[in-house]
Amino acid sequence: MDATRQQAVIVTDTTLRDGEQAAGVVFSPEEKLHIAGWLDRIGVQELECGIPAMGRVEQECVRSLVELGLNTRLITWNRALESDIKASIDSGVTAVDVSLSVSDIQIENKIRKSRAWVKEQLVRALRFAKKNDLYVSVGGEDSSRADLGFLKELLQIAAEEGAERFRFCDTLGILNPFSMYEQVAELVNASSLAIEVHTHNDLGMATANALAGVKAGASFVSTTVNGLGERAGNAALEEVVMALHCSCGQETGIMTADFAALSDYVASASRRPISPWKAVVGAQVFSDEAGLPADGVLKNPGNYEGFKPEDVGLKRHFVLGKHSGRHGLEQRLKDLAVETTNLDLEAMLTQVRSLSSRTKGAINDCQLLELCSRI
Ligand SMILES: [Zn+2]
Repeated sequence: MDATRQQAVIVTDTTLRDGEQAAGVVFSPEEKLHIAGWLDRIGVQELECGIPAMGRVEQECVRSLVELGLNTRLITWNRALESDIKASIDSGVTAVDVSLSVSDIQIENKIRKSRAWVKEQLVRALRFAKKNDLYVSVGGEDSSRADLGFLKELLQIAAEEGAERFRFCDTLGILNPFSMYEQVAELVNASSLAIEVHTHNDLGMATANALAGVKAGASFVSTTVNGLGERAGNAALEEVVMALHCSCGQETGIMTADFAALSDYVASASRRPISPWKAVVGAQVFSDEAGLPADGVLKNPGNYEGFKPEDVGLKRHFVLGKHSGRHGLEQRLKDLAVETTNLDLEAMLTQVRSLSSRTKGAINDCQLLELCSRI
């Protein structure tokens, strides 16, 4: 298979599983239903929605998600144990992620087994899942530190036992886009099994690594809203989708106009507020203050915007401050319905810049109107 060919990408969102695993984050069952319904409406094709093996409460929550009858496929997270998979079946899902540690460091020091045991356990789990007609994604925990030869053996077993795909997890977030591309391309070229990439943001590269995986031939990409997830989080849904659209020319079929509202809801439900400068959905990412860029945006937003604020449900703001220019000031006064014909705009601009420097911030409407009355 040609690793560079363009292909359809399926987004599998794990806000409800990996997102909720972020330290201190808990979604109520109602919030989970709301988030799942929202992700379904905007066209996310698959949701990893919980861990039924955790017990009755989680199983009931997964069951109520199943009962929503969404278009999206619901998949649950499981260890490669019959008891875990049984709990998923009892929750009503028909798709499971069956996860195993695959790096030598985790095989030896975490589960204290051998590579042979991992292979045998995978076969046992897959036979049980397939006997129960489940769709199966085999999750390779810590794939990025695993021996590639061993991963190929696991992919072969997964394919022979009827699994639908393999999830390549950069569990520690230690890859970069170049190493990610190389490793995923090697697996894509070695196996007919579909590959999913699941990336973490410990070095700030989750989104870049997810894109590198897709470019290398992965056909599934794992995300969470706002990048919510363990430690520094996961690849953010809104970043991955917009980057695929705007930077890679690749469509996902996901409607993006609700991204800002969805981000707000998840930030509030998770009690993890996002920065106003958060890529794609931060409330201030379409704010312009500096003279030339603000002037350029006023003339034509395409001069300085890679995509439109309304594409993700945001608004454009012009901020007055130390770096503002005459056009930005004029536009702001016009917005406030201030008659500018008799105003000395140059003097006004000097006052704006000076006040902004003294207060170390932007000039609000009240301050601007007061300056107007003084000049
Ligand atoms: Zn993860």
